[in-house]
Amino acid sequence: MPKYIDIHAHTNFKAFEEDRDQVISRALENDTWIINIGTQYDTSKKAVHMTNEYGEGVYATIGLHPIHTSASYHDENELGEDGKEFTSRGEVFDKEKYKELASQGKVVAIGECGLDYYHLEEDSIEKQKSAFISQIELANELGLPLMLHVRNNNTDKTHNAYFDVYELIKKYSKTNEVGLPYIRGVSHFFAGSVEDMKRFMEIGVYISFAGPITYKPNLLICDYETVIKETPIDMILADTDSPYVAPVPHRGTRNEPLYVKDIVNKIAQIKGLDEDEVARQIVINAKKLFKI
Ligand SMILES: [Zn+2]
Repeated sequence: MPKYIDIHAHTNFKAFEEDRDQVISRALENDTWIINIGTQYDTSKKAVHMTNEYGEGVYATIGLHPIHTSASYHDENELGEDGKEFTSRGEVFDKEKYKELASQGKVVAIGECGLDYYHLEEDSIEKQKSAFISQIELANELGLPLMLHVRNNNTDKTHNAYFDVYELIKKYSKTNEVGLPYIRGVSHFFAGSVEDMKRFMEIGVYISFAGPITYKPNLLICDYETVIKETPIDMILADTDSPYVAPVPHRGTRNEPLYVKDIVNKIAQIKGLDEDEVARQIVINAKKLFKI
């Protein structure tokens, strides 16, 4: 069992092109496992192929990020293997193509998928919902959990992406013997309210915290301290979202999976628990959810 698992990183992205192997080896040598996250077909494919280059400790998810359902977003750091041609095409989720990809390596979840209300154009929300529903259906078919990306608009509070994701999972997931969703999942980079967290837990969705919990509190975005205190330790995970949002003391530099320990330590500090005990419980949670 490793000491840490970064359940959401993008070392499959172009940002790691120059030193990908060093970054991954650095994590593995320091007892830190990595789940690399696909955000569209080419970055998903790259993540899957990477699982075959490394042994135990490197896993993948495959899916279509809500932002990539519209042809408006471009991030220089991203780009998959076919990177040179990538110009944010507004991908339509092709379930069969992704299903075939799932058989090519150590795929542990579907996503990142979900809803991103940072941009609130109506047609974009419709496209996001339809891609999300298809991914819930794929998770149903493959028996895999969902890697959820959920983001609200900081000013317009009339739409709540967390509530809408919860409703869609309840509606489209197969149900288990007690009538709850059969599909489990994790909300990475959680920045919702205590109420959003409780709703997710009711349907078996874990809560994963990222670098911003180590920043100076900004209650307009999220009251991390209260949410972390209220979330039971057996439902908590931690993720770096590398190369983005590095935790303190690395803030402002390119993030990498090794830094997940700074996030785990902050969770322990907020909860007033022993750091090693929290690290151990988070690894147990991740192994249980992703069956690794
Ligand atoms: Zn991500």
